[in-house]
Amino acid sequence: MSETAETEAPIRAATRPQVPGRVIFNPLKDTSKPQEYYDEIKQKFAEARDLRLSYRPDGRAQYTSELTGALAKYEVDPHAETIVDRAPITDTVEVILIGGGFSALLTAARLRERGVESIRIVERGSDVGGTWYWNRYPGAACDVSAYDYMPLLDEMGYVPGSFYAKGPEIFAHCQAIAKRYDLYDLAVFQTTVTSTAWDAKTKLWTVGTDRGDKMTARFVIVANGTLSKPKLSKIAGMETFQGHSFHTSRFDYKYCGADLSNLKDKVVGIIGTGASAVQIIPRVGRAAKELYVFQRTPSAIDIRDDTPTDPEWAASLKPGWQEERLAKHMKGPQISEEDKAALAALPREEKIRRQENQNIEHMMRIHRRVEEVVKDKATAEALKPWYMHRCKRPCYDDEYLPAFNLPNVHLVDTDGKGITEVNARGVVFEGKEYPVDVLIYATGFEVQVTGIYNDIRGENGLELNEKYADGMRTVFGIHSAGYPNLFIMGGYQASFQFNLTFMLRTQGAHIAECIKYVRERNYSTIDATPEAEQWWVDEVIRHRGKTNRNKECTPGYYNFEGEENRRQDGNYNGGFYQYFLHMEEVRKDMEKHFRFA
Ligand SMILES: Cc1cc2nc3c(=O)[nH]c(=O)nc-3n(C[C@H](O)[C@H](O)[C@H](O)COP(=O)(O)OP(=O)(O)OC[C@H]3O[C@@H](n4cnc5c(N)ncnc54)[C@H](O)[C@@H]3O)c2cc1C
Repeated sequence: MSETAETEAPIRAATRPQVPGRVIFNPLKDTSKPQEYYDEIKQKFAEARDLRLSYRPDGRAQYTSELTGALAKYEVDPHAETIVDRAPITDTVEVILIGGGFSALLTAARLRERGVESIRIVERGSDVGGTWYWNRYPGAACDVSAYDYMPLLDEMGYVPGSFYAKGPEIFAHCQAIAKRYDLYDLAVFQTTVTSTAWDAKTKLWTVGTDRGDKMTARFVIVANGTLSKPKLSKIAGMETFQGHSFHTSRFDYKYCGADLSNLKDKVVGIIGTGASAVQIIPRVGRAAKELYVFQRTPSAIDIRDDTPTDPEWAASLKPGWQEERLAKHMKGPQISEEDKAALAALPREEKIRRQENQNIEHMMRIHRRVEEVVKDKATAEALKPWYMHRCKRPCYDDEYLPAFNLPNVHLVDTDGKGITEVNARGVVFEGKEYPVDVLIYATGFEVQVTGIYNDIRGENGLELNEKYADGMRTVFGIHSAGYPNLFIMGGYQASFQFNLTFMLRTQGAHIAECIKYVRERNYSTIDATPEAEQWWVDEVIRHRGKTNRNKECTPGYYNFEGEENRRQDGNYNGGFYQYFLHMEEVRKDMEKHFRFA
């Protein structure tokens, strides 16, 4: 979760929480209601979680991202106009970036600034943009202030048009970055990297692809995305459905019409009510003849209150404004010496009690909003999330809840069960059939998996995920011993930020510095030492499991769907600023932490 506080946002309504994703629960403040009130709600949270786990004890195995055979269509790129025919590539470049999203763009920009010329992006899609290339569903927009989320605003001389940028604006920004840093010249699109193997003799990586390429590169950066491989719930009969169906990240405008007008005589079903669905449902709800929304667990919907950027504020920005803003966020809210002392004196249990009580009050405010907006009582009840804030990804939307007041929008609440059957005509729940013309799977993505579509073999031929079989082993989630000149972005053992580009930017800058170090000293390779790796694994373990969140939260992708997992197989929870400071420290003594050849 973000440690990021938002400051100096222009024209914000006073009613709206100033910190999307990061509502601060202050342990120095106590709550006013009797403790039984909070205990009762906490008990209901636990019951809701237990109910869900009883239906789906199979954790992450309830999903599949092996989209082959009848499911292969769910991964096909709807944005590719044509598949460009080309001869296999067998050249050598200095750096290959696997993936063309913000991770790749941010790192490439930093590499260019350090004089690296030969940089190739290899991307499965037909352009750069990653998330924002693929996710073009109606309503796609960032959920973090665009002034923080859209990276390189200083460098690009760009100010987003509104507080939350829409998908097309972010995609265009990605393209502009690629142009500005000459990343199109060597880029290869419509190409999936399938193998990445280290050659100890040549000290080069060989990158094989689904287009028959065998490219070589000195450095490889695995920037395959945190949420880029679509996954589907394993639902019996999915492949028998005779209507039209697609995943949210492959939104089919050819079928729906650019303005969704083709849906006016269609009955649409949407399975899932997570962050993508929340943005899609109001738009499809207004366009479709009927919309059935199949819900397992409701999202928590907070106020969005999006506003256009104040032109006067934009004009007043001085060069370096975004950097300054992010630097402030990095350190988080500053607390006085007096408060520090008061915090130190407070027993841990009391801190947790107060924070949990505030969290519950926050969630009850979310509940009240549902009651105020949604007219039908039963629908409103079903839309109330029974879990702590940040157990699931928080959503910010002002159109989602009102969509359920439309006469053609129907919520089918499965009360934690989820949909388990689809037939030729539509969705079946508890024996009742819901015939639909179109079925949209809003079932999310694989989370933070390194090496998707790709087999990464290091010095001893060991595949990276096989190395992780006994627990992840990295330094900063970026370097893994035995994989020289390989850098990983967006995986576990790194800090997690609700504003993810901030974290990716930090990783990119670190990687660029490492590559610069190797080049300047005429080294061939950089590899983490086993000691450095052990240090970081211990750091990750030390900071995980401090709270009961994984156990107490309702299942979702934040807590591995309720699965038990090793403490080292997750994000570094020591705080983003601390992550950044550790990187700085390590870079001060590179020879201690890395082996160079
Ligand atoms: C719908 C949606 C909304 C989001 N909103 C926010 C938000 O509001 N705030 C926020 O902080 N984050 C948000 N995120 C997270 C978002 O993914 C990150 O902010 C960021 O864009 C990730 O950049 P990336 O480059 O790491 O990954 P991606 O943007 O996912 O790019 C990775 C790319 O790698 C490609 N790829 C993967 N494997 C291979 C391979 N083997 N060969 C070739 N190419 C490959 C993929 O096709 C993909 O294009 C959102 C994610 C989604 C899905």
